Amino acid sequence: MPLVSMVEGLNKAQAEKYAVPSFNCFEMMGLEGSLAAMKDKMGPGILGIHPTMLNQPEMPAFIQFIRARVEASPVPVSILLDHGTSFEECMQILSYGATDVMFDGGKLPLQENIDQTRMVVRAAHAMGAGVEAELGFVGHGSDYDDPDLVRQGFTRPEEAAEFVEKTGVDALAIAIGSAHGVYKGKPELALDLLADIRTRVDVPLVLHGGSGISDDQFRAAIAGGISKINIFTDLRLAAEEKMKAAVQAEDANYFKMFPAPRSAFRDRCRHFLDVFGASGKAQASFPSTNTSN
Ligand SMILES: [Zn+2]
Repeated sequence: MPLVSMVEGLNKAQAEKYAVPSFNCFEMMGLEGSLAAMKDKMGPGILGIHPTMLNQPEMPAFIQFIRARVEASPVPVSILLDHGTSFEECMQILSYGATDVMFDGGKLPLQENIDQTRMVVRAAHAMGAGVEAELGFVGHGSDYDDPDLVRQGFTRPEEAAEFVEKTGVDALAIAIGSAHGVYKGKPELALDLLADIRTRVDVPLVLHGGSGISDDQFRAAIAGGISKINIFTDLRLAAEEKMKAAVQAEDANYFKMFPAPRSAFRDRCRHFLDVFGASGKAQASFPSTNTSN
């Protein structure tokens, strides 16, 4: 079924107070596990493609493969470039068949971020694709033992309003205390800052660095206006654990080791679809869906 731009789904999530998960996709088994979880839970999702994969020769074919698998799925799914670093990368992946792009100018000075994001928005919208941008800087969890450093990168609410208005982005990733990778300390989201940003901008807000955030903090962030959450490290760690166990098993063989990531992704993605309130939401929005796939 539907391969869709993420925009409509994120607007629906915002209106109904749940979050659409974005799971990164590097290979076929992780992809199949993610799609299986979305189908099990009838929850919509986004598959994120990391820009380091863009120049691999198999990428155009891999995106076409993902598209074919999504079209056979009963839930609406989008294919999104995650953290695109340039206009060219965004255009490249749209030409391969992705549905949406994230342009990450979070490290740039505000005006430059606005200018570059606006350029991506104009081109992407002309092709029917949605755009997520980042304001503030979501760092790496290994920096997390220095709260001052983390706070310096927080999104400034007054800039968020200006940024959304001037760029025309469809979704905005904000920095409120989450981080990529594995956290050194215990992450604490700045929910007061989220509330302030939420009152000033009307587009869906995005939380990156979801791995390691507690379920209660996720629920509070969603209640406070987060409509998309990026998760990958958690899935990767679960897959690595299962892969190691499969390799060390007494009866280990190629056919038993190979699918290990699929079951790990399936388990963890199901969990996050539940926590984010996305389970069942594909059913409600597409009542005529053929679920026999
Ligand atoms: Zn991210």
